[in-house]
Amino acid sequence: MRIILLGTPGAGKGTVAELLTERFGIRQISTGDILRGAVTAGTNMGATAEGYMKRGELVPDTLILEIMEKRLQEEDCKKGFILDGFPRTIVQAESLKKTLDKLGMKIDAIVNLEVPEDVIIRRLTSRRTCSNPKCQAIYNIFTKPSRKEGICDKCGNPTIQRDDETEEAIKQRLKTYAEKTAPLIEYYKHDPAFITAPSLKPEPAIDAVMARVGR
Ligand code: ADP
Repeated sequence: MRIILLGTPGAGKGTVAELLTERFGIRQISTGDILRGAVTAGTNMGATAEGYMKRGELVPDTLILEIMEKRLQEEDCKKGFILDGFPRTIVQAESLKKTLDKLGMKIDAIVNLEVPEDVIIRRLTSRRTCSNPKCQAIYNIFTKPSRKEGICDKCGNPTIQRDDETEEAIKQRLKTYAEKTAPLIEYYKHDPAFITAPSLKPEPAIDAVMARVGR
């Protein structure tokens, strides 16, 4: 099973991806998590990505493509995967197609999560993320608080507000999405695997995916 999740920042791609990994027993691949891990680990890749991420801009396609070409060929991807946050530009989508063709793989569902903008802004400013790069569990101070305020339920490390979750950075991320990523909806719209799912709650989106892939 291979799934692409599309949607604005805060549309719930991470939450939906997590539920789908449980249903299908396949890996979630989040380029955002990979990049944040690289920033914390202090690698060259992380150093290049950090500034773009803080400003709410996309990191260059060349960097992302280098990461994903390798990642998709790793052993755990043979069973399938859920792409969360990739592709994010037409260049990335075209490159993904080439890589998948080369590997003889096809995508089963391309899911566009739709959420109104006011909900998105509220969700993103109230989000907290575990500061442990190996965990990165996500909480929401209103809808999914950690049991102990400011402490991750899963690993006990502090939960923090990401640098790119200030109101200014969020506005920039939404602008970047509209310019660079929204055109992907046109790009994929006529693909038989494409579906649009409302995503105020994750369950309807999961149901839409299950119906699409016939499970
Ligand atoms: P969100 O979807 O909530 O914006 P992510 O965790 O997916 O958050 O991404 C955080 C940041 O990482 C993005 O704002 C961007 O700077 C960078 N990033 C993640 N994925 C990509 C990608 N496919 N192409 C370019 N930049 C990316």
